[in-house]
Amino acid sequence: MNDPIIPPLAPVALHHALITWQQQNGRHDLPWQQQPTPYSVLVSEIMLQQTQVATVIPYYQRWLEKFPNFESLAAASEDDVLTLWQGLGYYSRARNLHRAAQFVVAERGGILPPCSEQLREVPGVGPYTAGAICAFAFDHPAPLVDGNVTRFFSRYFGITGDVTSSRVSKHIWQLADDYTPPQNNRVYAQALLDMGATVCTPSQPQCHGCPVQSSCNAWQTDRVLQLPEKKKKAPIPTRAGWFGLDVDPTGVVLVQRDTAAVWPRLWCLPEFTEQPTKLELHGEFRHTFSHYKLNVQVFTYQAAADNRRVPWQELTDYALPTPIRRYLMALKKKL
Ligand code: SF4
Repeated sequence: MNDPIIPPLAPVALHHALITWQQQNGRHDLPWQQQPTPYSVLVSEIMLQQTQVATVIPYYQRWLEKFPNFESLAAASEDDVLTLWQGLGYYSRARNLHRAAQFVVAERGGILPPCSEQLREVPGVGPYTAGAICAFAFDHPAPLVDGNVTRFFSRYFGITGDVTSSRVSKHIWQLADDYTPPQNNRVYAQALLDMGATVCTPSQPQCHGCPVQSSCNAWQTDRVLQLPEKKKKAPIPTRAGWFGLDVDPTGVVLVQRDTAAVWPRLWCLPEFTEQPTKLELHGEFRHTFSHYKLNVQVFTYQAAADNRRVPWQELTDYALPTPIRRYLMALKKKL
């Protein structure tokens, strides 16, 4: 006969287990954990979306030096904001952060409240970021669910069904809410994130070092790697893009893209609307966006004399799409 399944711990016991684990094993030295404010938490959370902690740290430090608060960021030009963001990718995050700062200064007198609902009125602040600001900046009770928490909860509570569906997502948010402690939410929330990032990882989770292994449903039912369940994604389409390259030892011709284009307002090689037939192919690369792949061909061409030729040494002062910057940096080394 199989052993009976041990049910998940009740909220108080789970808090105790996770908080004790976090204090002994969790992350305490991250720069945004030192004297957190609503502003610094917002900056770090937006930077951490789709980006590894180690990559974010130097960007976060530079950002706080240049824009230490909502007022300084709100007053900055979009070009300055995008240039400082250069290399982190997903520039829409930088624009959202800029818009959020302008909103907070203009509409909220530069102050954010410890209230999830009011925080969500700030542009670019969704339920997760609002929960993170409540927890980390104010130590207030508010739930937060991201990919790490979703994975940990799915396994710990044995939740089946597509985690990207609204039904399962609602269920996980409800659990997160039910399990949010009235006190010490800062440490508890950090424990949830650290568990997902360092113990209950997507592949090779460290179940033997897990503080709640004995009551974990997935562990007891041998479904650790089957959870969370995700619907298979349809393959994403591939598109083609053609760009012009006019370089000499002094610099490269760049244009600022339209607001409606891919990579809005970034500086880029001029783009052709169709594949050139009479130009020489200089190189090719592929870039993957969230919804499609872009196969890029770069052609040598001669730009009109009135185009902007950016000196090589000034290239870092311009916000460029990451793959274009990589292409030009590699080229510069060969010149
Ligand atoms: Fe995750 Fe394993 Fe811990 Fe369960 S026992 S919560 S699967 S690390």
